[in-house]
Amino acid sequence: MKVPPGVTPHDFSEALNRFADVVGKEWVLTSDEDVNPYRDSYSPFWHEDEEPVPSAAVAPSSVEQVQQVLRIASRYKIPLWTISTGKNLGYGGSAPLQSGNVVLDLKRMDRIIEVSDKNHYALVEPGVSYFDLYCYIQERKLKVWIDPADPGWGSVLGNACDRGGGRTPMRDHFAAVCGMEVVLANGDIVRTGMGALPGSKTWQQYKYGFGPSVDGIFSQSNYGVITKMGIWLYPEPEAHMVGTVSVPKHDDLIPLVDAVAYLMNSGIVHGQTRFSTPLFGGAEEDPALAALRANPGSATTEEWERYVAQKNLGYWSVELSFYGPAKVVAAQWEFAREKFSGIAGVTFQEGKTYRFPLDPKELEQIFDPVPMGVPSLSIFGIGGPRSQGHLWFSPIIPMSGEAVFEATKVFADAYKDLGLPVVAGGQTFFGPASAYPRCLLILFGFPIEHDIEKNRKNRATFKRLVQIAAEHGWGEYRTHTGFMQTVSNVYSYNNYALRRCQEALKDALDPNGILAPGKCGIWPKRLRQSKTPKA
Ligand SMILES: Cc1cc2nc3c(=O)[nH]c(=O)nc-3n(C[C@H](O)[C@H](O)[C@H](O)COP(=O)(O)OP(=O)(O)OC[C@H]3O[C@@H](n4cnc5c(N)ncnc54)[C@H](O)[C@@H]3O)c2cc1C
Repeated sequence: MKVPPGVTPHDFSEALNRFADVVGKEWVLTSDEDVNPYRDSYSPFWHEDEEPVPSAAVAPSSVEQVQQVLRIASRYKIPLWTISTGKNLGYGGSAPLQSGNVVLDLKRMDRIIEVSDKNHYALVEPGVSYFDLYCYIQERKLKVWIDPADPGWGSVLGNACDRGGGRTPMRDHFAAVCGMEVVLANGDIVRTGMGALPGSKTWQQYKYGFGPSVDGIFSQSNYGVITKMGIWLYPEPEAHMVGTVSVPKHDDLIPLVDAVAYLMNSGIVHGQTRFSTPLFGGAEEDPALAALRANPGSATTEEWERYVAQKNLGYWSVELSFYGPAKVVAAQWEFAREKFSGIAGVTFQEGKTYRFPLDPKELEQIFDPVPMGVPSLSIFGIGGPRSQGHLWFSPIIPMSGEAVFEATKVFADAYKDLGLPVVAGGQTFFGPASAYPRCLLILFGFPIEHDIEKNRKNRATFKRLVQIAAEHGWGEYRTHTGFMQTVSNVYSYNNYALRRCQEALKDALDPNGILAPGKCGIWPKRLRQSKTPKA
């Protein structure tokens, strides 16, 4: 059996026995057969000694059990890695950052405590998946939508605490959080916001409570274990429509993004928008496009523009998502069209207007129902045969056409230099999306192979891309456990002042360093020395 770092086999065995006294023997998992499923199935360290493998898992079923598990872990200094449903694929799955941590698996805590369709929120425990919450709402015919991440098997709470995103107007998941219950390393229970007021009537309605607001310190963090979370939901809209705007010239991207920023920041477009081009990325079926792409020095802008004009395509396109009363959706689309009308040659394509609730037969026909608040696993069917998984490289860039051009050039050049796949002719486009307000997110999926040499090369490439991004002022919004130190190291302003502040919080809240050591670059004092780079 693996033993956590710095813990004697005797103490570990004692701690496991104490855990079993609390949660029941069957919920302390130690055999390879039981622990292996907690390994990261998209691990970039596949079959290498560096792959972080948990030593055991413990699965409490109540907040009281969580309190006791944390007290035992503090006493024996057992490092714990908390998961809700543990589906964090691309960012580490359910595996810890450091080998030997015990996985604190909260999926047995799966109560939906409340759903309001009058003030549109839910209060859930960690094990509640998007599918669970969706089914609960459907069974009771409540008039609210959830905002699932693309894979619907993930947890509402786990995803939000990792600051995940979706596609409806509630797509910034941590921004939708309202009130949490958190167990600290010493077993104390904290309720944030209005939850601190005994008998509060507004825990899920007013976020801030009184005094310094602490909710943010529990996201992407190792300061506590979240056991309940309030999350705002979207009132079921009357209608939803996606309109596509296409522009003919290369330089049109600048006014296109500016107009989208205006429409989103004014609350006229609510859902996630994504920019695309038919020219770079994806397979070419058209021989004329293949010929342009085959040009070793890349085709000229004029040649690309001529091509799209001949084919009646846009050089750039963006999909705008509208939600609300049908009349309002129509008016917003009309206003949006006016906003783009200054771009010569702009074209518009109005999508189908869906009315809710959807007829079940109609829903069955929709391959990707996620933008309509319906959880799905269809994302795993997109893109045909896959490698053995992927890592997400996910820098945030400004929401401007200039930034998209710069990032496209920087990352296309980096891809070429680093030997990553680029479209023949040396062009590529990464489809920036407005997953979060006021900025664009670029998501690159790096393939994971069951091939040690390829993974080593990909890991070095990934680290290089983090550096290249940082040199241009772009940082990642979230990352795989294997790169948390690398990403944290670029957030270095004023001699790592932010990290020093985070470390002070860590020392105060978790002095024995039992919670997720190393998460997002925050190590407990005893493991810190060698990890914090000097400026
Ligand atoms: C093809 C594909 C598409 C994806 N699309 C999306 C997408 O659209 N949006 C998106 O956001 N993600 C996406 N992901 C990433 C990931 O699958 C989801 O974010 C997923 O919801 C995360 O898993 P989970 O909900 O089970 O959270 P978990 O794995 O349980 O937890 C996520 C993180 O939060 C921490 N944590 C969990 N619970 C607690 C707690 N109670 N207290 C303290 N810390 C806790 C964990 O340590 C972990 O770091 C995608 C992945 C793949 C492979």
